[in-house]
Amino acid sequence: MPNRENGRTNRIGRHLPTSGGLKNTLQKAADQKCETIQIFVSNPQQWADPTPRPDAEAFVKSKDELGIHPMVAHAKYLINLASKDESQRGKSANALARELVVAGELGVDFVVVHSGSHGGEGEEKGMERLVEGLDSARELAAKFAGGSRVAEPLVENSCGAGTQLCSDLDSLASVLRRADVRCCFDTCHAFVSGHDLSSPDAAKETGKEVREKLGDGIGIFHLNDARNHFGSRRDGHARIGEGKVPEDSWTAFFGELPGIPLVMETPYATPEVDADQIRRVKELVGGLRIQAGGL
Ligand SMILES: [Zn+2]
Ligand SMILES: [Zn+2]
Repeated sequence: MPNRENGRTNRIGRHLPTSGGLKNTLQKAADQKCETIQIFVSNPQQWADPTPRPDAEAFVKSKDELGIHPMVAHAKYLINLASKDESQRGKSANALARELVVAGELGVDFVVVHSGSHGGEGEEKGMERLVEGLDSARELAAKFAGGSRVAEPLVENSCGAGTQLCSDLDSLASVLRRADVRCCFDTCHAFVSGHDLSSPDAAKETGKEVREKLGDGIGIFHLNDARNHFGSRRDGHARIGEGKVPEDSWTAFFGELPGIPLVMETPYATPEVDADQIRRVKELVGGLRIQAGGL
């Protein structure tokens, strides 16, 4: 177990809306005492390219002043780099590239992208396409950015529904190695796809296995409780303590995975409940005080 006497090592935050303007987003982050946040930089349900934000510069300055890092964006849900349809693959790589560029302009560190679905052509073919798609998105992004900074893509593990890729640690690890990328590991997706978090002992074992197989290949965690059963392969995020995972499982799980930021994607409630969730998670994973230096 890591030594937590000097304070907590995992930074804590959540996804926040940008609909009221980026200034508002940061105000919410400050109100809830988030140390990291996730946003959308484009409409996640549509193919339209992200539009440049006039408030980008002010956003970068104030998130640095507030000490919010890493800054995370979630890519469009429509993106499927592993699609069996060539034009969908092209569209997906292009869309991800645009998001990496716009995210870079906003000082975003990571863009989380779903691992996608092979659509019936087999896992190996799908993984090959995913790896190619990640390569091509990064190449395109570098070209679009013309030397400016671009964000780093993180591949997210899936629930394993239908023909979704990367629900198990071995296939995720294989994509990370082959594409030379890191991942975002979603705890709800992990639980419903058969990674046991149903007791502290089970969660500790799962945490060890995740560390052994993914190690420094994890950029961030999506910390979500699960509405659906263990192994059900059905997504559905619940607030921490309100789903199928007991609260003390999180303490055991993240005890094995120090230093990695946790970003919640749980349903919004009132500002008080949202702030309370952040505080509760901090307590569960090592205390309110974050360890000074090095994080
Ligand atoms: Zn997620
Ligand atoms: Zn999900």
